[in-house]
Amino acid sequence: MTKDFREAVESHCGQDQKTADFHLKNLFKTLKTSETHTKDILSILGIENVYKQRDAAEYFESILSMVNPYVSKIFKGHLKHTTRCSEGHVTSDKTGPFWTLPLSMENPSDSNKTYSVREGFKEFFKSSTVSGMYCDQCNEKTDSTIACKMEHPPEILTLLLKRFEFDYHRMSYVKNDCCVDVPHTLRTKNCDYELYAVVDHVGSLRGGHYTAKIKPYDDHNWYVFDDSYVTQLNSKPFEQVESFRSQSAYLLMYRKLDSPDRQMNHATDHKSSLGDSTPPCSLETGASRTRAEEERKAPAPQKRQRQ
Ligand SMILES: [Zn+2]
Repeated sequence: MTKDFREAVESHCGQDQKTADFHLKNLFKTLKTSETHTKDILSILGIENVYKQRDAAEYFESILSMVNPYVSKIFKGHLKHTTRCSEGHVTSDKTGPFWTLPLSMENPSDSNKTYSVREGFKEFFKSSTVSGMYCDQCNEKTDSTIACKMEHPPEILTLLLKRFEFDYHRMSYVKNDCCVDVPHTLRTKNCDYELYAVVDHVGSLRGGHYTAKIKPYDDHNWYVFDDSYVTQLNSKPFEQVESFRSQSAYLLMYRKLDSPDRQMNHATDHKSSLGDSTPPCSLETGASRTRAEEERKAPAPQKRQRQ
């Protein structure tokens, strides 16, 4: 469903059967004509038991780090962290790559305790102050400011909602089921992004189930991916509203709107939505089956489980 990724896999993959690229290419090829399995991909990832709890974000990053860099580059962005002393001298200037931007989910914005992804995204780039950092030019320790900016925006921007966190009061990992407000579009300094995929996790820390909702690049409908079942979502989530609320969204994927055809796709989407009077819907509908018996969940190796 991520066309650029699939095309890169199809055009740049060698014949080495030990690579993830090779097996992804086969998977995509077979899927065009029939049902298939993911055995080879699982084997490359070292997954023997699919019922053991896993973290979707961790394996997303594993796959990207295993494929050819040409193939994974559409997901890769760069962040620049600049530290300045109180006099404005630059004491550190570091740029590093990222696959996902983790949002803390702290400080829900309204009284309903709904976390705003838009606010959290802004918060991520807010400067922070640290005291006692040494500046060579001032020749002393001063209060410093660390600024973060996106130096290279990725084609596909993936936001990770940090639902699985260590709770120091309970001394164990917990899942945060907080409701999040997910915007249709995100704007950075240089580009606009449009949401096209959501990975959901339903269930608890110990047992749950992953599904995904995706809008293909050439279609205005959304589809629910639940194991081997793919069904069309009855409603269009952003027909009348600019955001939707979800208690299960875990990974959010935004596609950069840069080329004229993507802009057009975006514009058409809005036009059709304005002309329709169906009530706003929630992406929660039709989500998925929970399977407590299948401990198929999240970021949870043994140590993360509740005691
Ligand atoms: Zn200084």
